Amino acid sequence: MDISIVIPLFNEEESLPELEAWLRRVMEREGFSYEVIMVDDGSKDDSWKIIGQLVQQSPHVRGIKFQRNYGKSAALNTGFLAAAGRVVVTMDADLQDSPEELPELYRMIVEEGYDMVSGWKKNRKDPLLSKNIPSKFYNWTARMMTGIKLHDFNCGLKAYKREVVKSIEVYGDMHRYIPVLAKWAGFNKIGEKVVVHQERKYGTSKFGIERFIRGPLDLMSVIFISRFGKRPMHFFGTLGLFIFILGFFAAGYIGINKLYRLNNHLPTILVTDNPYFFISLACMIIGTLLFVTGFLAELVSRYAPDRNQYLIEEQIERSMERRKEGKKE
Ligand code: UDP
Ligand code: MG
Repeated sequence: MDISIVIPLFNEEESLPELEAWLRRVMEREGFSYEVIMVDDGSKDDSWKIIGQLVQQSPHVRGIKFQRNYGKSAALNTGFLAAAGRVVVTMDADLQDSPEELPELYRMIVEEGYDMVSGWKKNRKDPLLSKNIPSKFYNWTARMMTGIKLHDFNCGLKAYKREVVKSIEVYGDMHRYIPVLAKWAGFNKIGEKVVVHQERKYGTSKFGIERFIRGPLDLMSVIFISRFGKRPMHFFGTLGLFIFILGFFAAGYIGINKLYRLNNHLPTILVTDNPYFFISLACMIIGTLLFVTGFLAELVSRYAPDRNQYLIEEQIERSMERRKEGKKE
């Protein structure tokens, strides 16, 4: 199969028939073999009923329904597990992303060899203040912190090689940072394509202001886990050691200074009257705490079920037969 189209949706009943018809038009015109996987993220409206009708009408449509609303990341992850196509495309259900982009995205993956291509809503049709401006800032931060040169990390329209979606796990609100997850899994060829963006035709946006808090927190988690997930002590230990040593020598200096002054009959104050004493004490305590955190984190990661799971790209060896022959030579 050429393309799997994964569509996470939550209360999008009005958009679904139009979206399916449009996708079918494009896919048939281009002659792709394809499947549309609609993941209903616990909709309260008639979305699931409509998906049922679409499945009856078209052999290409598959539906998966969650018991409750788990979030877009969960829906994507489930869709990724089900997808069978050579190229997997994700798109929003609200008709803001255009199916006309699919052939070119497919071509970039298959012909130009990209591992993933992310859409870029260059001319974005969303409210300026609540979406576009904050999003520019987040994308800039994400670019700086991850080294991935994308303008629009959170674009719903993305295309992947099948291996990529089978190798990553999207959870929490991590759908915003899938390119980071992909890079972390070792897929470095990440491209970008400017895509058309429409205004929302039906319904309302499913993400409110909680985005402003969750987005940056998730970015920090993703970066921390990708760098130090398997060696947390390197993070906590370095920081703890540095702060502890700072406090230790500062306290030492305060003590030595006091003794020196006493010896030479210079005027002096009680060590506990010196504000720097408390600062150095705090440093030593914080440093120790960071160290202990590091040990605990090491214990946690030691028991992680995936602690020794690596993505092996290829393996090579001479077969047993050949090896025996080799010995005879
Ligand atoms: N979505 C979902 N589960 C949720 C929230 C959203 O599956 O809990 C889907 C939603 O139905 C849509 C896509 O994620 O297909 C993007 O959501 P939305 O259009 O509301 O986001 P926006 O475009 O406003 O950023
Ligand atoms: Mg939308």
